[in-house]
Amino acid sequence: MQVIIHKGSHEIGGNCIQISSGKTTILLDAGLPLSADSKPVDLSRLSVDALLVSHPHQDHFGLMASLPPGTPIYIGKLARSLIDATQVFIGKQRYALDFRYFQAWQPFKIGDFTITPYLVDHSAADAYAFLVEAEGKRLFYSGDLRSHGRKEILFRNLIERPVRGIDALFLEGTMLHRNNDLFPDEKAVEDKILETIRQQKNISFLLASSQNIDRVVSAYRACIKAHKLLVVDIYTAWVLEQLRQVSQSTPTVDRPEVRFLATHSQDQRLKDNPDYFGDFRNRLYRRHRVERAELHANPESFLYFGKMSNFRLIDKFKNTAAPVNVIYSQWLGYLEGNHADYFGCDKVSAFRYDPAVNFVYAHTSGHATVEALQKLVAALNPKRLVPVHTESPEDFGKICSKAERATDGVPFVI
Ligand SMILES: [Zn+2]
Repeated sequence: MQVIIHKGSHEIGGNCIQISSGKTTILLDAGLPLSADSKPVDLSRLSVDALLVSHPHQDHFGLMASLPPGTPIYIGKLARSLIDATQVFIGKQRYALDFRYFQAWQPFKIGDFTITPYLVDHSAADAYAFLVEAEGKRLFYSGDLRSHGRKEILFRNLIERPVRGIDALFLEGTMLHRNNDLFPDEKAVEDKILETIRQQKNISFLLASSQNIDRVVSAYRACIKAHKLLVVDIYTAWVLEQLRQVSQSTPTVDRPEVRFLATHSQDQRLKDNPDYFGDFRNRLYRRHRVERAELHANPESFLYFGKMSNFRLIDKFKNTAAPVNVIYSQWLGYLEGNHADYFGCDKVSAFRYDPAVNFVYAHTSGHATVEALQKLVAALNPKRLVPVHTESPEDFGKICSKAERATDGVPFVI
């Protein structure tokens, strides 16, 4: 197998790995770089037989539309639905690409390759690692994964029933210089949310990604235990609706403990796309709605699952009697500097020093710790280890002595 890492050998985000065997060439992920300094790979003239998308995070799929028209794109069905949901709510067209769906653990063929997707635990739903086989060689691509989310059993399965005979493991290393000690798992996050909202005298806001389903579940479970109501926006309600494809246990706005708060702009998306949303708007408004006045009348009854752009709404609940709880539940790095994608990050950052706000941090990473990666490598026992999705490939030695160093754009053979 011929391999070219177009991007990802020295950075977090922008993953794009090309693999060729015989007459077939595939890409593993076509990600948009996370860093503004990193130039996106030009895929427009790349002739490949297929793209495999590991999960619905921009830094893994964001460039898929720049491939030559007609390139087949293999992806999880739910992952595709979640990407569609975001497109519609940001007012863009859904991707009209040649999507083909794979099933977890079901091998399929693309030309000379046999691919087996392994469902993994990550902060995105419907995330996969891929076993890629050709010419009697086996390559395993981790995608993004971790061992400490609500689907940690998937990580345990990888270790307890490892894929044998791996010639090369392409392994993510996001956490090489980050630690996860404060909140080692999702349960710890749930506990912190519960502790924060249990005795609240004012409303609580939890700021997190709506597509971090584990986090929505943590908020929901904490609300049930604390006898509070979980409030989501219409976009989050629609994201949760997509989860019905794979789970009946994920909370949706149908649950008695969940409400939604309408905004004009999100409601307009529902009205503008009736074919896409079907009867969702009718079902939503028939019940489940909470008005702003109700939040102000009994603020202590609610936990609002929001995002940084909700800073104005948060401001409205500030008073002298009781602080507003702002539970910041995503990577702290977003509060530093100016992230264009995070409208409101400077305002939320200032909440840390605002006496009218009780600012609480509660987050666990979407990525495996060094210790978890060590266990995975020990179990898979690959002949070669190639770091990807890391800023520190030179430090992969602490995961495994066999770790190599690849360079973006430089071909090598497995
Ligand atoms: Zn990811």
